[in-house]
Amino acid sequence: MKNINITRKITQGMYVLTTKGGGCIVDAVSQISSGNSPLISVSVMKNNNTNKLLRENDKFALSVLSKEVNPEIIKTFGFNSSRDINKFEKIETTQIEEIEIIKNSLGYMVCEIVDSVENDTHTLFIGRIIEADVFEEKEAMSYQYYQEHKEELLKVTTEKGKTAWICSICGYIYYGEELPEDFKCPLCGVGRELFEKLKEK
Ligand code: FE
Repeated sequence: MKNINITRKITQGMYVLTTKGGGCIVDAVSQISSGNSPLISVSVMKNNNTNKLLRENDKFALSVLSKEVNPEIIKTFGFNSSRDINKFEKIETTQIEEIEIIKNSLGYMVCEIVDSVENDTHTLFIGRIIEADVFEEKEAMSYQYYQEHKEELLKVTTEKGKTAWICSICGYIYYGEELPEDFKCPLCGVGRELFEKLKEK
Protein backbone atom coordinates (compact mmCIF):
# COMPACT_ATOMS: atom_id res chain seq x y z
CA MET A 1 0.00 0.00 0.00
CA LYS A 2 1.32 3.41 -0.93
CA ASN A 3 -1.46 5.98 -0.90
CA ILE A 4 0.52 9.21 -1.15
CA ASN A 5 -2.69 11.24 -0.80
CA ILE A 6 -1.87 11.22 2.89
CA THR A 7 0.91 13.74 2.11
CA ARG A 8 -1.86 16.27 1.37
CA LYS A 9 -2.56 16.24 5.09
CA ILE A 10 0.89 17.64 5.82
CA THR A 11 0.30 21.24 6.82
CA GLN A 12 2.05 23.60 4.45
CA GLY A 13 1.67 27.31 3.89
CA MET A 14 1.79 29.92 1.15
CA TYR A 15 4.84 32.12 0.92
CA VAL A 16 6.60 34.36 -1.55
CA LEU A 17 10.23 33.36 -1.70
CA THR A 18 12.42 36.16 -3.00
CA THR A 19 16.07 36.63 -3.70
CA LYS A 20 18.00 39.13 -5.80
CA GLY A 21 16.53 39.09 -9.30
CA GLY A 22 13.35 37.13 -8.74
CA GLY A 23 11.09 35.00 -6.64
CA CYS A 24 8.26 32.50 -6.65
CA ILE A 25 5.47 31.03 -4.54
CA VAL A 26 6.53 28.21 -2.26
CA ASP A 27 4.58 26.04 0.15
CA ALA A 28 7.17 23.73 1.74
CA VAL A 29 8.70 25.91 4.44
CA SER A 30 9.71 24.64 7.88
CA GLN A 31 11.45 25.91 10.93
CA ILE A 32 14.04 23.22 11.58
CA SER A 33 15.88 24.51 14.64
CA SER A 34 15.11 26.79 17.58
CA GLY A 35 16.88 29.58 19.39
CA ASN A 36 17.39 33.21 18.55
CA SER A 37 18.43 32.66 14.94
CA PRO A 38 16.54 29.55 13.91
CA LEU A 39 17.14 27.66 10.71
CA ILE A 40 14.43 27.68 8.07
CA SER A 41 14.22 25.20 5.21
CA VAL A 42 12.47 25.80 1.92
CA SER A 43 12.03 23.40 -0.95
CA VAL A 44 12.29 24.91 -4.45
CA MET A 45 11.53 23.18 -7.73
CA LYS A 46 14.65 22.53 -9.78
CA ASN A 47 13.20 23.78 -13.05
CA ASN A 48 12.20 27.05 -11.42
CA ASN A 49 14.28 30.11 -12.30
CA THR A 50 14.34 31.14 -8.62
CA ASN A 51 16.26 27.94 -7.89
CA LYS A 52 18.98 29.08 -10.27
CA LEU A 53 19.00 32.56 -8.72
CA LEU A 54 19.38 31.10 -5.22
CA ARG A 55 22.59 29.41 -6.31
CA GLU A 56 23.99 32.81 -7.27
CA ASN A 57 22.89 34.50 -4.04
CA ASP A 58 23.71 34.06 -0.38
CA LYS A 59 20.33 35.15 0.99
CA PHE A 60 16.63 34.66 0.51
CA ALA A 61 13.50 36.09 2.08
CA LEU A 62 10.13 34.55 2.79
CA SER A 63 7.04 36.77 2.95
CA VAL A 64 4.16 35.02 4.71
CA LEU A 65 0.83 35.35 2.88
CA SER A 66 -2.47 35.81 4.70
CA LYS A 67 -5.86 34.39 3.77
CA GLU A 68 -6.76 37.88 2.55
CA VAL A 69 -3.73 38.33 0.32
CA ASN A 70 -4.23 40.19 -2.96
CA PRO A 71 -4.55 37.30 -5.46
CA GLU A 72 -2.43 39.28 -7.95
CA ILE A 73 0.55 38.35 -5.79
CA ILE A 74 -0.17 34.64 -6.19
CA LYS A 75 -0.72 35.06 -9.93
CA THR A 76 2.43 37.14 -10.44
CA PHE A 77 4.77 34.97 -8.39
CA GLY A 78 3.10 31.63 -8.97
CA PHE A 79 2.27 31.50 -12.66
CA ASN A 80 5.07 33.43 -14.32
CA SER A 81 8.79 33.01 -14.62
CA SER A 82 11.21 35.76 -13.67
CA ARG A 83 12.84 34.80 -16.98
CA ASP A 84 9.88 36.46 -18.74
CA ILE A 85 8.62 39.25 -16.52
CA ASN A 86 9.79 41.58 -13.79
CA LYS A 87 7.68 40.26 -10.93
CA PHE A 88 8.33 43.32 -8.81
CA GLU A 89 6.92 45.80 -11.31
CA LYS A 90 3.28 45.70 -10.18
CA ILE A 91 3.65 44.36 -6.66
CA GLU A 92 4.43 46.69 -3.78
CA THR A 93 7.61 45.71 -2.02
CA THR A 94 10.07 47.06 0.47
CA GLN A 95 13.79 46.25 0.42
CA ILE A 96 15.50 44.58 3.34
CA GLU A 97 19.06 43.32 3.06
CA GLU A 98 18.77 44.13 -0.68
CA ILE A 99 15.91 41.66 -1.07
CA GLU A 100 12.37 42.61 -2.02
CA ILE A 101 9.79 41.85 0.67
CA ILE A 102 6.08 41.71 -0.16
CA LYS A 103 4.28 44.54 1.66
CA ASN A 104 0.89 42.84 1.49
CA SER A 105 2.03 40.01 3.76
CA LEU A 106 1.96 39.10 7.43
CA GLY A 107 5.68 39.62 7.76
CA TYR A 108 8.99 38.30 6.55
CA MET A 109 12.16 36.44 7.40
CA VAL A 110 15.43 37.14 5.67
CA CYS A 111 17.77 34.16 5.80
CA GLU A 112 21.39 33.61 4.99
CA ILE A 113 21.82 30.39 3.05
CA VAL A 114 23.87 27.90 5.05
CA ASP A 115 23.28 24.68 3.14
CA SER A 116 21.39 23.08 0.30
CA VAL A 117 20.44 19.50 -0.48
CA GLU A 118 19.63 18.22 -3.97
CA ASN A 119 16.58 16.02 -4.04
CA ASP A 120 14.93 14.43 -7.05
CA THR A 121 12.63 17.25 -8.19
CA HIS A 122 13.49 19.97 -5.68
CA THR A 123 16.42 21.55 -3.91
CA LEU A 124 16.11 22.04 -0.19
CA PHE A 125 17.68 25.35 0.81
CA ILE A 126 18.48 25.91 4.46
CA GLY A 127 18.91 29.41 5.79
CA ARG A 128 19.51 31.11 9.11
CA ILE A 129 17.21 34.00 10.00
CA ILE A 130 19.16 37.24 10.11
CA GLU A 131 16.24 39.67 10.01
CA ALA A 132 12.52 39.19 10.53
CA ASP A 133 9.41 41.12 11.42
CA VAL A 134 5.66 40.75 11.85
CA PHE A 135 3.53 43.26 9.92
CA GLU A 136 0.08 42.04 10.86
CA GLU A 137 -1.53 39.56 13.26
CA LYS A 138 -3.87 37.76 10.91
CA GLU A 139 -4.36 34.17 9.91
CA ALA A 140 -1.81 32.81 7.47
CA MET A 141 -2.98 31.08 4.30
CA SER A 142 -2.36 27.36 4.36
CA TYR A 143 -1.67 25.43 1.19
CA GLN A 144 -4.84 23.45 1.80
CA TYR A 145 -6.89 26.65 2.08
CA TYR A 146 -5.39 27.80 -1.21
CA GLN A 147 -6.23 24.49 -2.90
CA GLU A 148 -9.81 24.68 -1.65
CA HIS A 149 -10.33 28.31 -2.66
CA LYS A 150 -8.09 28.79 -5.68
CA GLU A 151 -10.91 29.01 -8.21
CA GLU A 152 -12.59 31.92 -6.44
CA LEU A 153 -9.26 33.42 -5.39
CA LEU A 154 -7.90 33.43 -8.90
CA LYS A 155 -11.35 34.10 -10.39
CA VAL A 156 -10.85 31.37 -12.91
CA THR A 157 -13.61 31.64 -15.45
CA THR A 158 -14.07 29.62 -18.57
CA GLU A 159 -16.03 30.86 -21.53
CA LYS A 160 -19.41 29.22 -21.84
CA GLY A 161 -19.12 25.86 -23.48
CA LYS A 162 -15.35 25.76 -23.11
CA THR A 163 -13.29 23.67 -20.79
CA ALA A 164 -10.24 24.56 -18.76
CA TRP A 165 -7.87 22.42 -16.74
CA ILE A 166 -5.97 23.56 -13.68
CA CYS A 167 -2.71 22.04 -12.49
CA SER A 168 -3.41 20.83 -8.95
CA ILE A 169 0.22 21.38 -8.09
CA CYS A 170 1.00 24.90 -9.28
CA GLY A 171 -2.29 26.32 -10.54
CA TYR A 172 -1.34 26.69 -14.21
CA ILE A 173 -4.43 26.81 -16.41
CA TYR A 174 -4.77 25.05 -19.73
CA TYR A 175 -7.71 25.93 -21.99
CA GLY A 176 -9.03 23.18 -24.18
CA GLU A 177 -11.52 20.30 -24.26
CA GLU A 178 -8.93 17.62 -23.63
CA LEU A 179 -5.36 17.71 -22.43
CA PRO A 180 -2.96 16.35 -25.05
CA GLU A 181 -1.88 12.72 -24.46
CA ASP A 182 1.69 13.51 -23.39
CA PHE A 183 0.88 16.87 -21.77
CA LYS A 184 3.17 18.14 -19.06
CA CYS A 185 2.60 21.29 -17.01
CA PRO A 186 4.84 23.96 -18.56
CA LEU A 187 5.43 25.51 -15.15
CA CYS A 188 5.99 22.64 -12.75
CA GLY A 189 6.43 19.70 -15.09
CA VAL A 190 3.83 17.29 -13.68
CA GLY A 191 1.81 15.03 -15.97
CA ARG A 192 -1.80 15.45 -17.10
CA GLU A 193 -3.10 13.10 -14.38
CA LEU A 194 -2.53 15.92 -11.88
CA PHE A 195 -4.78 18.36 -13.78
CA GLU A 196 -8.36 18.92 -12.66
CA LYS A 197 -11.19 19.84 -15.01
CA LEU A 198 -12.85 23.17 -14.24
CA LYS A 199 -16.58 23.50 -14.46
CA GLU A 200 -17.95 26.20 -16.71
CA LYS A 201 -19.45 29.13 -14.89
FE1 FE B 1 1.91 22.82 -12.66
